[in-house]
Amino acid sequence: MNYYEKLGISSETVELFSEAKAAAATAFSKIDETASYNAAKVLSAFKNNGVSEAHFAPSTGYGYDDLGRDTLEKIYAEIFSCGDSLVRHTITCGTHALALCMYGVLRPGDTLLCVTGKPYDTLEESIMGEGVGSLKEFGIGYACVDLKADGTPDFNAISESVTDSVKAVWIQKSKGYEWRNSLSNEVIGEIVSCVKAKKPDCICIVDNCYGEFVEKTEPTEVGADLCAGSLIKNLGGGIVKSGGYVAGREDLVEKASYRLTAPGIGKHVGASMGHTRDMYYGLFTAPHIVAQCLKTAVLCSTVLEKLGYEVHPKPNDERYCIIQAAKFLSPEKLVAFIQGIQMGSPVDASFLPQPAPMPGYKHKVIMAAGTFVSGSTCELSADAPIKEPYVGYVQGGINVESAELGLMLAVENLKKI
Ligand SMILES: *Cc1c(COP(=O)(O)O)cnc(C)c1O
Repeated sequence: MNYYEKLGISSETVELFSEAKAAAATAFSKIDETASYNAAKVLSAFKNNGVSEAHFAPSTGYGYDDLGRDTLEKIYAEIFSCGDSLVRHTITCGTHALALCMYGVLRPGDTLLCVTGKPYDTLEESIMGEGVGSLKEFGIGYACVDLKADGTPDFNAISESVTDSVKAVWIQKSKGYEWRNSLSNEVIGEIVSCVKAKKPDCICIVDNCYGEFVEKTEPTEVGADLCAGSLIKNLGGGIVKSGGYVAGREDLVEKASYRLTAPGIGKHVGASMGHTRDMYYGLFTAPHIVAQCLKTAVLCSTVLEKLGYEVHPKPNDERYCIIQAAKFLSPEKLVAFIQGIQMGSPVDASFLPQPAPMPGYKHKVIMAAGTFVSGSTCELSADAPIKEPYVGYVQGGINVESAELGLMLAVENLKKI
């Protein structure tokens, strides 16, 4: 039995991917090297904090003195080389974790300055929504400095914009749903230096979604004061069913925790109710899973470029997040590709995703996510807002062998248009 044929994958497509993998060998070995380094970082933090079976025990009620939860938060802080962290299944998603940072740190009269262009779509309501209790409604100002046309930070404009009222600066590491470079932690460090040179007490917050373990450093190691992300992305390792994290300066993590629970109580409460083991296990596998995601992205980039599509990043570019973007230039092709990803998924492969309105997004969005954890984007998934020039964003892949099959089916479906 030829199982490729059974799946509807032609020998031509199998050959295309086999060539792509050969071409990607150097990129793959660089990815492996970073994964090995980050695995050492994680193991070291586990050993240093004496992780044992007892840490996996669930707590109930208030969850006071939950050893597993408190130790995991120390481990995160060690991995991020920072003062403290908040790692909770009750942080519902990345947007929630990031909103905790904003609401924890900013007060009426302050200004939030975004220095990497408009922040991720789902944060717009938190910053300037009407009738939702946004920062704006609490008298907190917002300003934005775009990246330069070449995708690098506009250091002059940033420096000029860091005025007295700017309490915090917002840096988005990943491209998100934009056709732009994701930022290396080295560049994030340069932004932080530029901001602090102008105003030493300005708080630098990084939206770290999709960026964790892609490099050997994290933003807090290059001077960022606070960063946050989702546990159904990189750091959950494909295992965590729900959650988010905040990591950074101890006083700022505490402030964020006051928004998660209540002022004064903060991170001292929160029953783990059996989620702790998954969070440890997920963090432990995350360096490897991120490497699988990165290899999937490289493969996607290589194949789509071979097929004549403009891709970002290009196959051999340095990667600073797990997202791969490609321009399809026609809505039909974009939709066909995304639907093909769904066809190649282990769960809900028979579903045909359609463009639809989504909370937090302006345009109709199409999303393929045939995932074990609903909406998890460290599993192979693809999304796109339906707007010109019809860019599709592919991310995840908890094992590159299966993710490759998903990409193969996406390519087959694309060929039908
Ligand atoms: C995913 C993402 C978010 C929001 O996270 P959700 O978990 O979808 O709420 C914010 N910023 C960036 C860059 C992201 O990729």
